[in-house]
Order: sequence, then C-alpha cells, then structure tokens
Amino acid sequence: MLDVNNIRKDFPILHRQVNGKPLIYFDNAATSQTPQQVIDVIVDYYSNYNANIHRGVHSLSQEATDAYEQARLKIQNHFNAKHSHEIIYTSGTTHGINLIANGFSSLLQKGDEIIVSALEHHSNIVPWQMLCERTGAILKVIPMNQNGELVLSEFDSILNDNTKLVFVNHISNALGTINPIKYIITEAHKFGAVVLVDGAQSCPHIKPDVQALDVDFYVCSAHKICGPTGVGMLYGKEEWLKKLPPYQGGGEMIAEVSFEKTTYADLPHKFEAGTPNICGGIAFGAALDYMNRIGFANISAYENELLKYATEQLQQIEGLKIYGTAKEKTSVISFNVGNIHPYDIGTILDKMGIAVRTGHHCAQPIMDYFKIPGTIRASFMFYNTKEEIDTFITALKKAVMMLS
Ligand SMILES: *Cc1c(COP(=O)(O)O)cnc(C)c1O
Repeated sequence: MLDVNNIRKDFPILHRQVNGKPLIYFDNAATSQTPQQVIDVIVDYYSNYNANIHRGVHSLSQEATDAYEQARLKIQNHFNAKHSHEIIYTSGTTHGINLIANGFSSLLQKGDEIIVSALEHHSNIVPWQMLCERTGAILKVIPMNQNGELVLSEFDSILNDNTKLVFVNHISNALGTINPIKYIITEAHKFGAVVLVDGAQSCPHIKPDVQALDVDFYVCSAHKICGPTGVGMLYGKEEWLKKLPPYQGGGEMIAEVSFEKTTYADLPHKFEAGTPNICGGIAFGAALDYMNRIGFANISAYENELLKYATEQLQQIEGLKIYGTAKEKTSVISFNVGNIHPYDIGTILDKMGIAVRTGHHCAQPIMDYFKIPGTIRASFMFYNTKEEIDTFITALKKAVMMLS
C-alpha cells in the first residue's frame, strides 16, 4: 500500500509552519504541492540546459528539445493516446478549453447546439457562451440533483441531431462528483457530437485512458498533479486536431511564411505558437513519473479512505451540511455549518495553520442551485493523513464555537 510518512518527506512545503502551527494543506483541488523530485528537475533545467527548443543546432538547445519531447511521450503514455502528436502542450486546462472553443467558431452554424453540465467550472462555461455569441449556437445544460449528480435522463432528452459539442468535467471541483463520462461520450457519439472532457480534477486521482473512453478531447493542468503552474495538456484525436484551425499565430507553428501565404506546421506544433513553458513541460513529465511510481490504484484507495474518514467525522458536527453526496466521488468535501459564513470559518482555520478553500470555487451555478453564497471546501491528496483530519476537526469545532 502507501507509505504516507515516507511520501511526506518528498514534500518540503508540508514541513513548514503557518501562523506558528504545522501546515495542514487541504486546498489540493485548487493546486497540489510539488515533491522534491519535481523541484530537482526544475532546478536542473535552469542550472544546466536552459535553451530555446526546436530551433538551435547547439547542444543545449538539443538537450532541452529532447527532454521536452521526452516529456510529451510520457504524457502520451500516461493517457494512452495513440500518437504523441495528439498531445498538445498548453498553459493549463483553461487554455486547452479556449483553444477548442475558438477552433469550433468556424465549424458551427446558427442553431447548432452545445451541451454543458450544471457541474462545470467557470472555465468550462464562459468559453462556450462566447462561442455561442460568435456563432449563434445554443447552449443547453444537463441539470443536477440534490446529491450533486447529473440527471442523465435529462441529458438523453436534450441530446439530438443538432447537438454538435458536449462538454463535461470528469470530476467536479466544487463537489467531487465523478461524472459518468463513458456513458455521456457513447450517447453523444450516437448523434455525431464531439465530446470534450475537462480532466483537471480527475488526473490527480485516477489515470484516464483516452482510447478506452473514446473521448475526442481531454484537458488537464500539471499543477493539480504535483507539477508546476502554467503548463498543461490538451489531448485531441488526430482527425479533430487536423480539422481545427490554429489558435494562435507566431513562431514554431508555421511551415513556411510569406506575406502572400503562410502554411502551418504539422501536429502538434500547429497549436504550439511561440516559446512554450519548456521547463514546465519537462517537470510535468517528472510529476507523472512521480505519481505513477506511487501508483494510481494506491492513490485512489488511500484517498477514498481519507474521504470516508473525514466525512464520518464531519457528519458528527451539529448543523454541518455536506454539499455533494454523490455515490461516486473523490476526496473533495464541500460543506457549511449552520448560518456561519464560510469565509469566517476559513479565516479562523488559517490562524490554526489549516488551508481550506472558501467561496464559490469558480462554480457559481452550483452555489445558486443550493441557494448558498459558497462553501468551505477541504480536498485531500495522497500526502494527507488521518491525523491531519483529526486536527482539522478539532479546529473546526473550535471555530464553530467561537462564531455561534
Ligand atoms: C482547476 C480547474 C480548472 C482550471 O484549471 P487552470 O489550471 O486554472 O486552467 C478547470 N476545471 C476544473 C474542473 C478545475 O478543477
């Protein structure tokens, strides 16, 4: 199984103090922490072979290019993509979604329909609204129920021959719900619709297989998988990436340029204009190596234990309500206590060294559904412990007492 005490030694930040108390980091759904193995890769890059890629004949440029392309192969392998050119480096999930939404501007017509889910992050709502404004397409929403689960019968009934695109997250960042994306993909394909899955929250906990899912596009961010910020990946099926126009113009993405006509580079470079986050890409590969060494089966089994334990403890606090009680969920717990404002509890917890998120979690429609301004969200990774949860529960009880 999983040797948490040893794993924690890999994370320097977990040993610092915050406000005079040992840090307890429960804001993993916003960003994860970085192990020394990944930090070392970053330091090594800038200390030893920092250079621009794909253009230099000199040795440093070759080394950097090799490491960057090697990391692309690791990403391909991790997600089981058929071709390495189906992996596009992005600056993160938001960039990947906007790249696709922009690309479809020229492929959609007035009256076409786009389906998103009620559980989406703002970054998976706003780009589609903008796309609808540009094209005259219509946005439809798969509703959710009180448990925070998508109502699939409603999905079945809004799906039709006009449906061109379906966008859904694999796991909700606000509630932790694991969505039945295999079902959604299969049903959408029956109508010829293209499916994009936002994997920002799933990749830290499970290992998605894009070919088994038969998904058309899949996006994620490295910083939620123990990697650095500012880098992520977009997986796209070759046929779709070929059909989509480039997102940004610039260096790296061209084959030939003249003032009369420019031809674009082949995949993946067509979508990778400008100097990328080279070090970030290499570190992304190292982060996947790190997670795979621990093993995703071990990670999810352990995190489920943490989820179960924390849920049981929280439920014993009077007046505490958990939002998001789906049967299938990951280690994210959103809750409120009585009428206490989440921000007030979050502030007191911070004084005790405990980092949780408070607010709408970039998912205002979900908060509107529950008629609340926000929640407190505790989200766990494999480096968290039951002892930390105990400390958190004690601190939470104290905060509630102070505020009621
Ligand atoms: C974090 C997150 C995003 C946005 O990721 P960025 O790295 O900020 O681009 C999108 N969707 C979900 C579900 C997320 O959790």
